[in-house]
Amino acid sequence: MNASNEGTRQDWSGGDWGDSGSGSWEGQGGGGTVFATLQDMMSQRWFTDLFSELAERHAGSAKITDELRGIDAGSQAFWPFLAAPFQLAVGEALGCRITDVDGNTYLDCHMGFGAQALHGHSPAPVVEFVRDRLHGGPGNGYLTAVELDLAGLLRDIMPHCDKFAFQHSGTEATYAAIRLARAFTGRRLVAKFEGTLHGSHDLAVHNTAFWYHGQPAYPFPAVGPDGVSPVPAFAGVPQAGPEDLLVLPNDPAAAIGLINAHAAELACVIAEPAASSFPFEDVTIPMVKETAAACRRAGVPFILDEVLTGFRNGIGGAAARYGIEADLYTYGKVISGLGIPLSAVGGRADIMDMTQTTGQGFTDIGHKTAMQGSHTGNYLALCASYASLRLLCDKGDAYYAQTRAKASAIKDRLNQFRADSGIPLRLVGFGDFIGCFQFLPEDSYRDYREFARAMNPALFVLTLMLRKRGVYMLGTPMLFLGGAHSESDVDELVDAVTDSALELKKNGFPFELSWEQT
Ligand code: PMP
Repeated sequence: MNASNEGTRQDWSGGDWGDSGSGSWEGQGGGGTVFATLQDMMSQRWFTDLFSELAERHAGSAKITDELRGIDAGSQAFWPFLAAPFQLAVGEALGCRITDVDGNTYLDCHMGFGAQALHGHSPAPVVEFVRDRLHGGPGNGYLTAVELDLAGLLRDIMPHCDKFAFQHSGTEATYAAIRLARAFTGRRLVAKFEGTLHGSHDLAVHNTAFWYHGQPAYPFPAVGPDGVSPVPAFAGVPQAGPEDLLVLPNDPAAAIGLINAHAAELACVIAEPAASSFPFEDVTIPMVKETAAACRRAGVPFILDEVLTGFRNGIGGAAARYGIEADLYTYGKVISGLGIPLSAVGGRADIMDMTQTTGQGFTDIGHKTAMQGSHTGNYLALCASYASLRLLCDKGDAYYAQTRAKASAIKDRLNQFRADSGIPLRLVGFGDFIGCFQFLPEDSYRDYREFARAMNPALFVLTLMLRKRGVYMLGTPMLFLGGAHSESDVDELVDAVTDSALELKKNGFPFELSWEQT
């Protein structure tokens, strides 16, 4: 860990970035080399040609984006921190192909932020099931038999959960799990690991994935005896106080020490089995297992956030694959079908019962909690999820064997490519299969902050090079692989990735660029 990169941090107080001496990229001694290199690259002819070519190809999408800008602030085309250049306005999505409004068809690796990665877009059995129930379906606000079908199916898939409660997004699921744990324990303090991503509610956006904080261009916050200093990523989020949030470093001994020291105040600890910001299962799984065991010993509820990994480490998620015992689990993303939002909390009956009535409203007052809403248990979402997970069960273990084989084939070809070309191109990821193509000198990193500093800040150019070759990813070159990608799609993808890397090499692309150099 580079100690000189710690200690000062960005601070949001009163509506603007505070002047903590770290607000300028130049002033903190970070980024100078990186920004000079990026600026130089972006002024080169090959780079401007790439932008011109993509701009021409995406004229229809650009027109829609431009018109939206004046009337829709929340579109993903304008998301702060993450808005990627040249977002497509999609006309049709089938299997692993999307066609934009300009008539370009792409091999889709984005798959709806991974939520549609299981079977691809519009899988016929799911579409048919939902279409059959669309006309005359109750919409929302009614109990239906499909809720029993889905809860029963989830119980079969995940016997480690006694009961479930449905929500819509992963954000709501993690928030609901925290509320349940607080209601159950009567305690307030929540612990999360630095860098983990649990959605966009106020606690979750503290010390979340490093790119939301502009790190490591902005220094990481200091680590003291009470963990990592809590820092919200978004304006409008009050900085959580020590009574609300404990941010654990990605160091099991230090994290467990903090959990033990605060056991009497902790309502829960929440963790991801493998995080998109630290995607090395060889490091994170043992750490998470040790943390779960420490929580059990200390009597602190442990929440395993499987929004990303659920159904994507074998059908039982990381919990079943790696034997991670938690008190509550959260599911989202691929639990839904057709992109109709659904998420779930599952876990111990005594904790889940905090949101189940005693049978008489008046007796619930003061000790039950709720996360209910007009659309909770939305009928079409339940139908789509049920049909999609049934299809997954029907595909059985073969589904996972095939998906893993495709991910291995990509990695094997990249190993050969690295040896032949000297370009440090890797596919880094976890589960079955969530990954990101990267230019990285090492296969694995043991330290979260070290990994953040090793990231190549020019990686987005690979995404644009791939776009030119008919492969769709969003900002970073992330791959959500699944049943819709055939072996020949995988070959097409690897050809596009390696051709792109070779073209970048020809253009003098800075493969070795990293924040380490600053
Ligand atoms: N938890 C994890 C592990 C996630 O990856 C995400 C989203 N990327 C969330 C929670 C939040 O889910 P959603 O975007 O559906 O709110």
